Amino acid sequence: MSDLSSTEPGTVLLIAAHPDDPEFGCGATIARWVQEGWRVVYVLCTRGEQGTHDVGADLEAVKRTREAEQRAAAAVLGVAEVRFLDYPDGLLEPTLALRKDLTREIRRYRPQRLICQSPNRILDSRGLRRNHPDHMAAGAAALAAVYPTASTPHLFPELLAAGFAPWIVPEIYVTESADPDVIIDVSETLDQKIAALRCHASQVRPGFEDRVRSWARELGERHGLRAAEAFRLIRQE
Ligand SMILES: [Zn+2]
Repeated sequence: MSDLSSTEPGTVLLIAAHPDDPEFGCGATIARWVQEGWRVVYVLCTRGEQGTHDVGADLEAVKRTREAEQRAAAAVLGVAEVRFLDYPDGLLEPTLALRKDLTREIRRYRPQRLICQSPNRILDSRGLRRNHPDHMAAGAAALAAVYPTASTPHLFPELLAAGFAPWIVPEIYVTESADPDVIIDVSETLDQKIAALRCHASQVRPGFEDRVRSWARELGERHGLRAAEAFRLIRQE
């Protein structure tokens, strides 16, 4: 597995589709990196207003609830900032508009590490929820923003004119990869991930803790660790 210890702490930008995706996907890694001195910023493409089974729900109220839950969860992990792009939940597409918005955020924060979701459909026994089309759309748009758009000055020239200079992201960590090659030891921060997930009270059901702990333990066991999270790492120069 890759040696990550040589990188000086800087900024981590996490891009995801929905509130709760950061914590389910890699909350324990976020907590660990914050402890190591990294400044973590979240950009959420939607506010998660489809995360309700109530046919009479006020979707604006659901948005407010989910935004508040996300901000609370991020605070538990020590995340510095949370931004919402406000695309419609459940209908996210990897459009040029989304790519431009993500390009602007990459150029704004100039991260050393970027975390995004896998753009690929994952067919396995953990089911369709984690294959949500919004996750794939957010992942595809994020990777397209990383390369080539964020580093190419004359793509979206209005961004350059507004002062958002080109930026090359050195390390991209893809969650939910079918083919991970970086294993992060999260033995010390798994409890923090659980605490952050509890903040998503409208989304988690009784028993979620055991499920999340057993995923982390099973992955960890395969690598001689008590608990782990996994990523596919892409490097750029
Ligand atoms: Zn999601």
